[in-house]
Amino acid sequence: MAFIDIHTHKEAREEGVIKVQNIFPGEGFAAFSGCNYYSVGLHPWHVKSPEENKKELALLENALFFEHVLSVGECGLDKPANTDFKEQVEVFSEQVELSEKFKKPVVIHSVKAIDEILKIRVGKKAQQPWVMHGFNGNAQMAKQLLGKGFLFSFGGVLFNEGAKSIEAFKSLPLEYIFFETDELDCSIEDIYKKAAEIKELDIYLLKAQVEENFNNIFKKG
Ligand SMILES: [Zn+2]
Repeated sequence: MAFIDIHTHKEAREEGVIKVQNIFPGEGFAAFSGCNYYSVGLHPWHVKSPEENKKELALLENALFFEHVLSVGECGLDKPANTDFKEQVEVFSEQVELSEKFKKPVVIHSVKAIDEILKIRVGKKAQQPWVMHGFNGNAQMAKQLLGKGFLFSFGGVLFNEGAKSIEAFKSLPLEYIFFETDELDCSIEDIYKKAAEIKELDIYLLKAQVEENFNNIFKKG
């Protein structure tokens, strides 16, 4: 059994850890070595002109032909970001279509935009699972998304005792959970340990369930 880091920007390999490294369209990635998977997406912060975005999306599509590129993203919507929101919606919608075409899930970046994200999922009749990366919503938001094709990935927020997403984490069934280090300078093992403590569970149970989730959602068994 391995620890699974569903979303990281760091390349370094670690023994006993399966990583899904996030890269941007056009960035190079290594051949598969048994534990290095990738997610490729056009981040809402990096949305540019429609012409430039089209080029990036073509590069993304090229990457999705590789089997160890497991998902599209991180991509999504970010209201406070400095990029044009209408173009964000356009670029995100295109990536949803790619996810459906390649039957690969989406890793979602959402800041103050969950209603719009939901609207796009419904509007596009998307069937692929969407993983809310760095989920920091409350229990009510988790409930709102549960059963609508969403999963939830938790990282550094688990160390923040006052965070509203701790309640969300406690309330979610294990079948809908992943863990991530993102940009954080800590090991995925430490995040699992903290998570096991919060859920009052044996870490081995957590490892087994997340591995099953990974196989079901990202590798489709
Ligand atoms: Zn990230």
